Amino acid sequence: MIIRSIELKDYRNYESLDLKFSEGVNIFYGDNAQGKTNILEAIFVSVTTKSHRGGRDRELIRFEQEEAHIRTLASRNSMDYQIDMHLHRMGSKGIAINGQKIRKASELIGLIKVVFFSPEDLSIIKDGPSARRRFIDIELCQLDQSYLYNLNQYNKVLLNRNKLLKDMVFDNSLGDSLEVWDAQLVKYGCKIIARRAEFIKELQDIIREIHFHLSGGKETLYLGYEPDVDVERFASKVRENRERDLKLKQTCTGPHKDDCLFSIGGCDIRRFGSQGQQHTAALALKLSEIELVKKVSHDTPVLLLDDVLSELDSSRQNYLLESMGEIQTIITCTGLEEFINRRVAVDKIFKVCNGVVSVEN
Ligand code: ATP
Ligand code: MG
Repeated sequence: MIIRSIELKDYRNYESLDLKFSEGVNIFYGDNAQGKTNILEAIFVSVTTKSHRGGRDRELIRFEQEEAHIRTLASRNSMDYQIDMHLHRMGSKGIAINGQKIRKASELIGLIKVVFFSPEDLSIIKDGPSARRRFIDIELCQLDQSYLYNLNQYNKVLLNRNKLLKDMVFDNSLGDSLEVWDAQLVKYGCKIIARRAEFIKELQDIIREIHFHLSGGKETLYLGYEPDVDVERFASKVRENRERDLKLKQTCTGPHKDDCLFSIGGCDIRRFGSQGQQHTAALALKLSEIELVKKVSHDTPVLLLDDVLSELDSSRQNYLLESMGEIQTIITCTGLEEFINRRVAVDKIFKVCNGVVSVEN
């Protein structure tokens, strides 16, 4: 998969921008707060519909403007796709693919797959479970349309069930509706649990091998799924927890509480790993994402690296730079020294200065 170009209008600090990328390695460099990450973010938004930073759509619109536009040209299996996104300060965004307006985000998500790696991702191992769930969800939604559907349904049911639990404080006759939401919660929840288990299993072999190399052949990483509840017990646990849910006015059990374990030699590195071990595992996780996309979609994802090289030691940097060889990569950094010193083959260099981008080669 290749991102060929991107046009921005009133997006973050860009009044107007028109960029053409190389199919190889693209570097955006410049001082802090000039708009480098904003470009990667715009690419991420245009293929996943959401920002990697989280937050609301209106934050993406340039200050004091009412709307923003992103137009991305991408290709996959020799087919070209023009993705148009129109963000409004009020109301939801409009999306069109090749001029045809789409009704659901799911028609776009997964069409062009990207792997985004930023310094915050390095703490995914030591952060709380929600960061690891987010990782699983972003990956699986890109890879599997039915997972995306089931996750959306589950989140809606969860929201409605939690609302009902609050309403029941004032109106106990709503108990029948709770039965209906419970059944839906279990129905979609079980699909999510089963798919996550499969995903982690698939990822396990890939990450183990990559991690083994990254650690210089010294360590073997184990990645395991830690579901809050398994498929067989979900329905009965929802029943058992009903009183507790009513008291706390929220759903206490389900895949929205899942986690995954990272361990080395029986030691849980989420809690007991050194910073180096945690960073190595996080890097291995990102690199296995690339491999998994290749395996599942028989195509390469686009790699977006946001100022991540300076956070890694030289052997991990080398490993990352090697994996860029065969896939389109878009990198941001503050200086070019690392690339020059390492004689990295760079195809296109862009300088970013206060919302203006110039091509340097
Ligand atoms: P760093 O090297 O520090 O990561 P960066 O070049 O990646 O910097 P970005 O995060 O891309 O910087 O851009 C930050 C700039 O964008 C800031 O100056 C910020 O004020 C500006 N900015 C963010 N959102 C908006 C917006 N909605 N409208 C206008 N400007 C914005
Ligand atoms: Mg940045």
